[in-house]
This record gives sequence, structure tokens and C-alpha cells, in this order.
Amino acid sequence: MGSFIKNIADILRHLSPSERRHYFTTAVILAAGSGQRFGQENGLKQFFPINSLPALVHTLRAFEASSLIDEMVIVTKETDIERCETFVKDFGLKKVSKVLAGGSDRQESAKRGFDAVSDKAKFVAFHDGARCLVTREMIDNTIRAAYEHGVAVAAERSRDTVKIADANGFSKESPDRNTVWLAKTPQVFMADIYRAAVYTAEKDGIRATDDSMLAERLGFKVKMVECGNENIKLTTPNDVYIAEAILRARQEKQQ
Ligand code: C5P
Repeated sequence: MGSFIKNIADILRHLSPSERRHYFTTAVILAAGSGQRFGQENGLKQFFPINSLPALVHTLRAFEASSLIDEMVIVTKETDIERCETFVKDFGLKKVSKVLAGGSDRQESAKRGFDAVSDKAKFVAFHDGARCLVTREMIDNTIRAAYEHGVAVAAERSRDTVKIADANGFSKESPDRNTVWLAKTPQVFMADIYRAAVYTAEKDGIRATDDSMLAERLGFKVKMVECGNENIKLTTPNDVYIAEAILRARQEKQQ
């Protein structure tokens, strides 16, 4: 593993932001969750209509529009594969190479998506399908930072003071707010780094809710890329109102 990491470090030294190089980059869009907090009666949040289009379609369109994305892999529930294939056809999404079934947790879904990316992929961007307000600019900024640093995460600087509490709910620690970021997606990796990170985590029995945690534990530096506060993930039904209001405000700005 030591020499493997050294090889990756050597590759990283040759990545240069100034040359605006392009590396084959695949987006793995994760849409295989059950979304318990969204309420069963509302159906799956990734398919809920936001300003009359399914949330996942907004997400896929943003990645389709990025000139830094070469390929997209959609990971969804076995029973939703056909529905996603219809989106690909109906919305003319030319970059989608595969739609496949996810696993029982996010990490397993991400790994299945990763195993299906093209052999040409040098960088892989993992994104929550339910984070449907992502923009081309957020995607491109995070990918460019990954080209420079190896791993980069779209994130928002915390506006609140964060408390780390013990199991009984008593505050143990209050980190300096200026150092606190809220991790979002896309989370973009040099493919070799993600491969090393996910296979090592599985060998060590680690399950993570955030892709970049797997790289951090191997000692890779993860660059935070400010994406502002609009990159929300649909989690509860209230988020639908927020998402629609943000989209309306963006449309008004364009007029
Ligand atoms: O559950 P949570 O909202 O954190 O999920 C984040 C993203 O990961 C969602 O877009 C969800 O569809 C996806 N996911 C998945 N496979 C799972 C669990 C979650 O693709 N088994």
C-alpha cells in the first residue's frame, strides 16, 4: 500500500491547474436510497417533481451540461432502472452509459457505480441524486479542484456554531466555526485514490456515509470547495418548497 500511495503522490505532483487540462471524468449519480425521512406516502424523493420535473432529472441535466463530465452512471433501485432509462431517452441525456442497481447502503451503491465506470475514467465524481439544485458551476469548480489536489468536495462554510455532543446529548466540544464546513456532493476523486480508499475500507470493515471520509483515513488531503447554501439535498417534504423557491429565484434572475 505504501508504494501505491507514493505512485499516486507522484501523479498528483504532475497535475496542474494552470494548464486547464481535461481528464476523462465520470459522474456516478446515486439514487438507490429509500429516503425514510421523506415519508413513504410521497414516494422516493429522487423522483419527486420539483417545478414539474422529477428531482433526478434536474440533477442529470446539470451533469450533462458540464463540459468536464464525459460519462454518467446512474445507480438506482432494481425496480427503478426502467424509469431512469426512460429519463435518459426522454430528456436526451447523451452521457449516460449505464443504469444499474445499487446496494443496501450508500457506500455499496457508490462502489457498484464505480465498478461500472469506463476504463478511461481518470476522475470520478460521486453525487447524491436527491441533491437536485447542483449547478454546472458547482460541478466544474469541484472537478477542477480535484484535478489539482486529487480529491475535492463541494461544501458550505457553516454559518452556525457546531457542537460535538456525547451519546447523552451533552456538548463535549465546540470547534472554531471558521474551520467548520458542511460536506455536500459532488465529491470528486482521482479514480486510483477512490479505488484504494474503498477497497481498504471494505477490508477494514468501515462503512461511511460520506465518500471522502474513506480517502481521509488513508491520509489523502481533501480540498473543500465552497458551493454556497443552495446545494440542498431533498430529505424531508419541506425541502421541496425550498428547492422550488430557489429554482424560481434563479429563473427570475435569468429574465
Ligand atoms: O440517505 P441519504 O440522503 O444520505 O442518501 C444520499 C444519496 O445516496 C441519495 O441520493 C440516495 O438515493 C443515495 N443512496 C444510494 N443507495 C443507498 C442509500 C442511499 O444510492 N443504499
